Amino acid sequence: MSRFDSVLMVDWSGGHDRGATPKKDAIWTCLARAGHAEAPVYHRNRQVAEAAVTQILRAELDAGRRTLVGFDLCFAYPVPFAETLTGNPDPLDLWDWFEARVTDTPTANNRFALAGEINARFPGTGPFWANGRPGHDVEHLPRTKAGYGGHGIPEQRATDLACGGFSPFQLAGAGAVGGQVIMGFPTLARLRRTFGDALAVWPFEQPTRPITLVETYFSLLPASNLPDHAVKDAAQVALYAMRFSALSKGDWDILLDHPADAEGRVLGADHVGLLEPSAQIPQAPPLRNDCFAMPQGAHWTPVDEALAHLRAELSPVVGTETLPLSQATGRILARPVTATRSHPPHPNSAVDGYALAGPLPEGAHSLPLAPGRAAAGVPFDGTVPPGHALRILTGANIPAGTDTVVLQEDVAATDTHIALNGPLKRGANARRAGEDMVAGSPVLPGGRRLTPADLATLAACGTATVTVHSPLRVGVLSTGDELRDPGTPATDGEIFDANRPMLLDDVARWGHIPVDLGRAPDDRETLRAILSDAATKCDAILTSGGASAGDEDHVSALLSDTGSFALWRIAVKPGRPLALGLWDETPVFGLPGNPVAAQVCALIFARPALARLAGADWSAPQAFTVPAAFTKSKKPGRREYLRARLTDGAAEVFASEGSGRVSGLSWATGLVELPDHACDVVPGTLVRYLPFASFLA
Ligand code: AMP
Ligand code: MG
Repeated sequence: MSRFDSVLMVDWSGGHDRGATPKKDAIWTCLARAGHAEAPVYHRNRQVAEAAVTQILRAELDAGRRTLVGFDLCFAYPVPFAETLTGNPDPLDLWDWFEARVTDTPTANNRFALAGEINARFPGTGPFWANGRPGHDVEHLPRTKAGYGGHGIPEQRATDLACGGFSPFQLAGAGAVGGQVIMGFPTLARLRRTFGDALAVWPFEQPTRPITLVETYFSLLPASNLPDHAVKDAAQVALYAMRFSALSKGDWDILLDHPADAEGRVLGADHVGLLEPSAQIPQAPPLRNDCFAMPQGAHWTPVDEALAHLRAELSPVVGTETLPLSQATGRILARPVTATRSHPPHPNSAVDGYALAGPLPEGAHSLPLAPGRAAAGVPFDGTVPPGHALRILTGANIPAGTDTVVLQEDVAATDTHIALNGPLKRGANARRAGEDMVAGSPVLPGGRRLTPADLATLAACGTATVTVHSPLRVGVLSTGDELRDPGTPATDGEIFDANRPMLLDDVARWGHIPVDLGRAPDDRETLRAILSDAATKCDAILTSGGASAGDEDHVSALLSDTGSFALWRIAVKPGRPLALGLWDETPVFGLPGNPVAAQVCALIFARPALARLAGADWSAPQAFTVPAAFTKSKKPGRREYLRARLTDGAAEVFASEGSGRVSGLSWATGLVELPDHACDVVPGTLVRYLPFASFLA
């Protein structure tokens, strides 16, 4: 989840009504979510634009979506302009000051007259220039910039200078943005008043409220980034809405990390790189409502077909964050990492010995020793003379004048000479620069769950921080009137909830955050409330029980009303139908109630599906082919998983195939997978064995 659910970009205008047909130099807005922009919208004048922006923000607020709204106009004037007018340096008070004085209709406004009145309050000429209104002279607002100055106000803010923006005092000529600013402040002031405590203006206020209002500048990125659109303003709002909405939480932490100051800040001016497409991770759109829909014939779906469907239809549902390496173990890389530095960065010695210029031919050699030595971190800073050798230690840079190292055990050394026997190949015992990793080349792919070794690899090539997916929160819910918690009384008709502790631990071992959703009775309304609450705090939900098509199968019944429900009849044993669907956009995996079936279906189907949702690559468990230590005649038509363990390298299977026998899961160390087709297994037949350990994250 990013910091903002929605991003609204507004390209403002200081001019008059532009008519009914969309045109340039008018007001355009664009709303985007998770890197996907809607079509830009044209607004003929400020009045309709303000109403539209207010309406969009109201809708986003009501829907509980955190929203960033950006206007491409300066939010403040250079200091001390505001204080001269209002008697106080607060730039937000200046918005109210303008709102009280600006008059604005679709066909007339007083921006030039007001600028003249303001100029009259300052000494010298300016700070506003110049009168661009034909036929109407304005007192204190000359037609040209001649004689400009002496008013004591810088013409531009630091942030405008930094990103090449224009002066908010310029009212005429190319780059005149002053009119937009004067004609924008009243709208900004009204938005603040309308949304009150729900809106914060960055960087003057902390961006912690549901709506964050920021200043943007639509020329931060090279124009080559602009999407195709007949009107440039439309392309700009679409581009920036799309790019800002694709930022990760970590990116936002960087972008918004700016102290409140009286001049404000163009959002992104210091970190344009984050807006470049190469730095961006397109966030997956929400799962499609029909993602679980499978062509349902009379046939049972083979396991591989079911898995292929999950693989194709599921995509990451979590956002990203940027973490230091020390906190990244076990997290899933959201984008590939390339080496920032070659490893090794410079040729160095693989052994303790003596550096020399190779190769040496066969035979005995005696080389004089050059004074000094090369050690790791303390390179030799001279050049070794031809025909000489230099003492060198493991990890030391190969000194100039040498390219080969002879192992110290292979020489007889005195204080002044070494003696050794050739031949010695050029480059022996020397590591080449970049022989492990080359700067700029790919090191690890996105979608990989970081191992301890990966942390070493990343550190070695100079990577200090990585962008990873936020952890997937997986809720686990048991259903059934008969269930009780162990440690509490239970009648003969009641059993203890075995699935929940098992599935919660599965989820944790798969690298996700388990969320204990407790137990639900066989009551539709209670279950409905639990699912709705769970959907607000989980990215995915695993339920067990109630997933078939019977009277008390309430998980299936509820999901079937969502329009996203599918009951997967998979040709697998143990297993009953899997109930799949989206509850308030959150994927629900309805597993069978029998503990053995619940665990097998969790391992075989839920585990890879959750990995996809978490942003990881699809992965199949590592299987081993081992001889069977059992006899079984299997019918065709479905795949079977048997609780198994290895004894002397051969797979034995649990005495009973009963799917309620939980203890058999503990007896087993893995599963034997028998193929979809018929087979006769006798002792010695090779079978596929999947250790439980290969189902870990
Ligand atoms: P169901 O799918 O709800 O018809 O349940 C199938 C069987 O699994 C029934 O015998 C249930 O009592 C049993 N069962 C369901 N949930 C659990 C659970 N959480 N722990 C142990 N057994 C369960
Ligand atoms: Mg039940």
